[in-house]
Amino acid sequence: MKLIYELSSKGRGGIRIPEDKISPEEMVPSELLRDELAELPEVSESEVVRHYTRLSRLNFSVDTEFYPLGSCTMKHNPRACEAAASMPELCETHPLWPQLRQGGLLTQGSLQILYNTERLLSEITGLSEFTLQPLAGSHGELTAVMMMAAYHRDRGNKKTHIIIPDSAHGTNPASAALGGYDVVTVPSDENGVMDLEKFKEAVNDETAGAMLTLPNTLGVFNPEIKELIEAVHAVDGLMYYDGANFNAIMGRIKPGNLGFDICHLNLHKSFSTPHGGGGPGTGPVGVCEKLRPYLPISRVAKTKDGVYTLDYDQPKSIGYIAPFYGNFSIIVRAYAYLLMLGREGLRGTSDRAVLNANYLLEKLRKSFSAVSESRCMHECVFSGKSLGKGIHTLDLAKALLDRGVHAPTIYFPLNVPEAIMIEPTETETKETLDAFVGMMEDIAERSVVDPDSLKAAPITTPVGRLNEVAAAKNMDLVFAE
Ligand SMILES: *Cc1c(COP(=O)(O)O)cnc(C)c1O
Repeated sequence: MKLIYELSSKGRGGIRIPEDKISPEEMVPSELLRDELAELPEVSESEVVRHYTRLSRLNFSVDTEFYPLGSCTMKHNPRACEAAASMPELCETHPLWPQLRQGGLLTQGSLQILYNTERLLSEITGLSEFTLQPLAGSHGELTAVMMMAAYHRDRGNKKTHIIIPDSAHGTNPASAALGGYDVVTVPSDENGVMDLEKFKEAVNDETAGAMLTLPNTLGVFNPEIKELIEAVHAVDGLMYYDGANFNAIMGRIKPGNLGFDICHLNLHKSFSTPHGGGGPGTGPVGVCEKLRPYLPISRVAKTKDGVYTLDYDQPKSIGYIAPFYGNFSIIVRAYAYLLMLGREGLRGTSDRAVLNANYLLEKLRKSFSAVSESRCMHECVFSGKSLGKGIHTLDLAKALLDRGVHAPTIYFPLNVPEAIMIEPTETETKETLDAFVGMMEDIAERSVVDPDSLKAAPITTPVGRLNEVAAAKNMDLVFAE
């Protein structure tokens, strides 16, 4: 495929600027004017449209095909939420506009959306207060660990470590370490559930807290959760709920009611923001009453007269973690999604996400070894060990690309050899799931009878199989003639 510069032809163009109406000298200070014309591609409008449309089709997207990437909740995001986020009244406000203007309201609507979204998230998590500031799940984790540290400092607690199961997302230990804590890792048993006895052994007076994903990264809901929480609370530790898997329990379980003290949610996973390629995201953090003073500033407040303001007067706050209102348009999408679905809708979403995952789990058990004997929550994990000799999970993933499906998450969680982690989400139909099962069975069979065909995959994608290490280390991103 050609680069846009290669389509250039001298004198061709797609726009006409009325010369008599525009004077560069008046618009740009003379010392900033360039001496020579910029080397820009000279292309017609239709060439530009075709070029970028073609480029967009090289991208894999959930708008075109099935995207069962585990741990990421790549579901269909309702267009109504996109429409809400595109409203000029919302996306054309400037974050530095004053909140109030004499005789009128300027950013009151935007502040009200923030305020209401915080209340809704508090309601569905059972926690007292939320901040919408963090710009990703990992950013929310770090914010939370900083708040945990502030709490312990305030109480004069001497705490040195945070406990994290070995199935955790890599951001958990990274956040704990960045927040100044040692990480104590607890192994999981053969069913992917953290070992309760080993967990209790790890808890002592120096435990600042524990970070848990529930259901965990294997899609398993820990049945001993209450006991785990009690053990941590007994030493004045704090329980952190990694809410990246909230799609499994929305409207069914409130982390706050289970006893969790602090949590993050990923609005870009569960609440209607398209994601992938690293962002943008929002990782709101919710806290129980005793952690409220440490929330980052600014806080959205509502006065007795019903006026919304930003409150910076929080003496115990951990301070600023993000500018302005955070990733505002993502918050708008989440707000629209929450209002649209309501209590029943959210619950139905999780119910279907769990049903779809269990359907795949049972169907695929025949050809792949499932990690867990029992039912799963919203995602299911297999091992590619059962594939034919010399064929690995990587080959399976590449072969799926040729069949028009995005690969599941592979080689994660780390505690499962040759892991294949599938999250179908609630937005897929039975027909799509059945077609996927057919592909997986076909690949499993070929891994025995025709392994070479899998080694060659992918052959239908814009680029074939890359040396992934070299591709990441020696990136070639510069346009050169
Ligand atoms: C995605 C994810 C995170 C991190 O969220 P980001 O928004 O990608 O930073 C944390 N924990 C789990 C379990 C996740 O799946």
